[in-house]
Amino acid sequence: MEIPCITRYPLEKQFQKAYTIAKFKEVQEELRGFLYLTTSLLGCEGGRSIFEVADEIQVGDDLLKHATFTVKIDEDPLDVKCSCKLFEFKGILCMHTLRILTQLGKHIVPSNYILDWWRKDVKRKCTFVKSSYDTSSIDDARRYDRIQNCFYELCSNASKFESSCVKLINQIEQLKVQYPGITDPVTSTGGTTVD
Ligand SMILES: [Zn+2]
Repeated sequence: MEIPCITRYPLEKQFQKAYTIAKFKEVQEELRGFLYLTTSLLGCEGGRSIFEVADEIQVGDDLLKHATFTVKIDEDPLDVKCSCKLFEFKGILCMHTLRILTQLGKHIVPSNYILDWWRKDVKRKCTFVKSSYDTSSIDDARRYDRIQNCFYELCSNASKFESSCVKLINQIEQLKVQYPGITDPVTSTGGTTVD
């Protein structure tokens, strides 16, 4: 099964082909955001361009808030970065970078922006090759996705103020102690089962 593309951009097709339905839907959410974006070129030097992308964010019923993001793009090799950091957090390109890429006529997203985590061919491999390693890697990917979604929201909220930012970083440092390395509580020797 495949869900239809909502734009004419070839890069959407690229994600449709590569990604699982759930992840492709997240990419489409980003593409839907194009409607509210306006872009302006801030500067360009030696193959690198910097754009400002302004977004209208709805707060409450009809109050609109403007948010601006900076997208830096290198032409050769093609590399994009956005100040919203969605790619770093969730592994999908944000509406701001996608908008700039399409605006510059880039039809193909470099393969390093299509992550193996969300590829459906990785999944397909798992249904054919039933090794315990492959099964756990889909489960891993699903768990990773759940954590990441939850984490992204936390970061966006906490980053609004310096005090909440510092507080969250401290809390994460404390949490790190509780999740030291990869030790499965069931299979590790001498470990007890945690319910
Ligand atoms: Zn962005």
